[in-house]
Amino acid sequence: MLRGREPIDVPEDDSALIGVLALQGGFEAHERMLHRLGARTRQVRVPDDLDGLDGLVVPGGESTTMTLGVAREGLAEPLLALAAAGTPILGSCAGLIMLDREHLGAMDIRAERNAFGRQIKSYEADVAMRGVEGPPIRGIFIRAPWIVEHGRSVEILGEVDGHPVAARQDGILVVAFHAELGDDDRLHSRFLELVQASRSPDQAAPRALDEPVSKM
Ligand code: GLN
Repeated sequence: MLRGREPIDVPEDDSALIGVLALQGGFEAHERMLHRLGARTRQVRVPDDLDGLDGLVVPGGESTTMTLGVAREGLAEPLLALAAAGTPILGSCAGLIMLDREHLGAMDIRAERNAFGRQIKSYEADVAMRGVEGPPIRGIFIRAPWIVEHGRSVEILGEVDGHPVAARQDGILVVAFHAELGDDDRLHSRFLELVQASRSPDQAAPRALDEPVSKM
């Protein structure tokens, strides 16, 4: 019933279906990255779009505008319910802000907006990220936040100059930078591993036979 909203190249199979909050901001780059890794995506604009998702991405953009959109569409409660049900969520930049205590409240963190200053040009830094194999991730920070407070259930995964810029709480993974730009797909791979782990064993088992989990 929602098929009409999905991009045409979405494969008709049992690969993970990831919603990408598409009210505002850089959602298309996330979709491209997820398609490259073999996942299907669905743009999320209204609560019904959340039905049946295996995971959700909250992209970067402008958290004030996104908050208005979430309120307008009545998305706050269904988004929280999705998080409470344990559906993995990836938040990047404004997405990290949206998930914090003062916005949706899905994660026990407090973000400071524009913490790197209100630079127009992006600032790049290598982020050594726990849980992501290989060299540090080259993070692109655009008017990015960092995490100023977090609860004990939150694991800090990466820092820049001593400030937490990547964290995880159960299935919720957030980064202050844009990981969807460029070629490095390791963060999205890691996210899809969390998605795979949260899917029911009957769904996950046949896939595990023919494909590595990280490339599902
Ligand atoms: N500065 C933006 C905000 O506060 C976030 C910027 C971004 O997502 N690149 O919402």
